[in-house]
Amino acid sequence: MSSGVTPVASPEGPELLVVVQCHSVTQAVCPGFLCEHAFQLREGGFAIYPKEKPRRYLAISCGGCPGRSVLRKLKNLLRNLAKREKLEASAVVVHLSTCITRESHHGPRCPHIGYIQRQVAEAGLPCREDSRVSTLSEAKRREGRYQGT
Ligand code: SF4
Repeated sequence: MSSGVTPVASPEGPELLVVVQCHSVTQAVCPGFLCEHAFQLREGGFAIYPKEKPRRYLAISCGGCPGRSVLRKLKNLLRNLAKREKLEASAVVVHLSTCITRESHHGPRCPHIGYIQRQVAEAGLPCREDSRVSTLSEAKRREGRYQGT
């Protein structure tokens, strides 16, 4: 069970970003390239990380509604990081990708986002929102053009 304490990243920032993508979006169409590209450019949800420090990027999917495999995947990752690279959880930050956090042409904001966030907390990891944030999609959100998707 979670300790109830909100995990925080190390002061130097994470070494590894784990980006959780919506399973239905990855299955249907998205290879995740634009989010990884935004990470390389430090744009959108990744703008908080300076470019100077190299960081690793790992994309996983939520595993399908309601995203219950997130905890198992994160625990598996943490086990292997500790065993093979001597890295602790403080080296890891999780981002929920924009296809989860915001409505878009893929669909509405994930209705299970709170559940997924609780699983990330239970794994002992900080959880941030957003990956790539498209300017065009932001304009459509402001205009309410995704409502009812
Ligand atoms: S739980 Fe949310 S993120 Fe995962 S497949 Fe369902 S809608 Fe997508």
